[in-house]
Amino acid sequence: MAIEQTELLSLGYPPPRPSKRDEPRGYAAQPGTGPKGETCGSCLHSYRVESGSGKVFWKCDLRRFSRSAASDIRKKSPACSKWEHDPVDSKPNTNGIETAG
Ligand code: SF4
Repeated sequence: MAIEQTELLSLGYPPPRPSKRDEPRGYAAQPGTGPKGETCGSCLHSYRVESGSGKVFWKCDLRRFSRSAASDIRKKSPACSKWEHDPVDSKPNTNGIETAG
């Protein structure tokens, strides 16, 4: 029988720390620190990887590639501070900042 976390706390044990293995490592910087309204999906650095079985994963080219799910990013994640406008992206730039060119 597994001991519940609340039982451990009531016994005076500290709460378990989240494993480093569970932390997402695919983002170049903390998501949400970039331009408001932008996402990884609209960033120059996001790219898709297709597995042999046809599954699609998204990665950031500012991070070292690995086949681990821990290095995946989500297209809908809010942009990080390293976000760059993707000139090929078909989605409009919604942050209200005009870009030259
Ligand atoms: S916003 Fe761009 S640079 Fe930042 S993690 Fe997402 S894809 Fe990488």
